[in-house]
Amino acid sequence: MHRFNGRKQIVILGGGCGGVVAATQLGRKLGADHDVILIDRRADHVFMPAFLFLMTGDRQPQEICRSLSALKKRNVKVIQSEILDINPVAQEVSLPKEKISYDYLIVSLGLQTRPDLVSGFNEASLHPWEMESALRLRHALSEFRGGRVVVGVPLGLYRCPPAPYEAQWMLDGFFRQRGIRDRVQIHYFTRDPEPTGEAHDPVVWMDAESRRRKIDIHYEFVVRSIDPVKKQINGLYNYSLPYDLLVMVPPHRPAQVLLDCGLAEVETGIRVDYDTLQTKWENVFAIGDCADMPASKAGGVAHQEADVLAHNLAVEITGKGRPVDLWLHTI
Ligand SMILES: Cc1cc2nc3c(=O)[nH]c(=O)nc-3n(C[C@H](O)[C@H](O)[C@H](O)COP(=O)(O)OP(=O)(O)OC[C@H]3O[C@@H](n4cnc5c(N)ncnc54)[C@H](O)[C@@H]3O)c2cc1C
Repeated sequence: MHRFNGRKQIVILGGGCGGVVAATQLGRKLGADHDVILIDRRADHVFMPAFLFLMTGDRQPQEICRSLSALKKRNVKVIQSEILDINPVAQEVSLPKEKISYDYLIVSLGLQTRPDLVSGFNEASLHPWEMESALRLRHALSEFRGGRVVVGVPLGLYRCPPAPYEAQWMLDGFFRQRGIRDRVQIHYFTRDPEPTGEAHDPVVWMDAESRRRKIDIHYEFVVRSIDPVKKQINGLYNYSLPYDLLVMVPPHRPAQVLLDCGLAEVETGIRVDYDTLQTKWENVFAIGDCADMPASKAGGVAHQEADVLAHNLAVEITGKGRPVDLWLHTI
């Protein structure tokens, strides 16, 4: 694309962890010499790790949201809109009312939850993986007087692999604080095998911590369906688990628009070069949960990728400085 005075237009899709960091850094580094645009359907950045604190009533929704319009002071133009299509050949993004062209595109559209992929899930599970569900879970917990609480994970990837452990420990603390822990049995199921190895290995450590808190763990439990009437989770090989309160992570898939436009070719997201985060399309990069990287789907990963990509793009656009390598710190 040729623009007056060599100005470049960098478009960032998604105002979650990755998008906000990329926009902030690029706005700072490029100043008013180029155009940085961020597009999200939401007016606010929503800090999803704090959904766990919504669940226990330790945070309110307004405390974990920040208006994306704050990016204006970093030279970023924010457009609040649904993104309908991405055309990497024409180098443009379609919104309901306009098309936005780009010289560089950073895609950070995350994952969507797909509760419909497990029969009975919608009626049965209250979980902190979406704000609205976290608030319904908070209400259910405030009325819970005792019984069997089951925390669990589905097959496939989901946001933040360690968060189901954090959820069960926070529930353990919540029930202790309310003085009803002796009337609550906490169970955890996972499709993963029982971990073995050194005590400092994160999964071994998390397993030990759950046992210390008297949480029963069911390894290699693969959910097939949930019966909300019988209050029973049905697994493979006729193995089943009863529950009074179910806190199961919903299945996740890449953001719908990425599946629709073909950018996400695999269930784990958009294929990228592990070093540059570049997709197979010229000047199109993907970061965060929607990128098919050998790393956790985690905000910390999105943040590190955004930092490195923003730096390297700024070097390419301005011709100043030297590119840096991506060294991810993650579990
Ligand atoms: C309960 C919980 C606990 C967590 N704990 C941690 C933790 O402790 N540490 C950690 O590192 N990570 C944690 N995470 C994970 C972290 O929140 C995500 O990995 C991170 O938000 C991913 O950032 P992202 O930019 O890739 O995507 P997201 O933050 O998901 O942002 C995607 C954005 O794209 C927008 N969008 C999507 N489709 C469209 C469209 N068609 N049109 C317009 N806008 C669209 C969405 O509105 C959203 O704002 C946790 C997540 C949860 C749910």
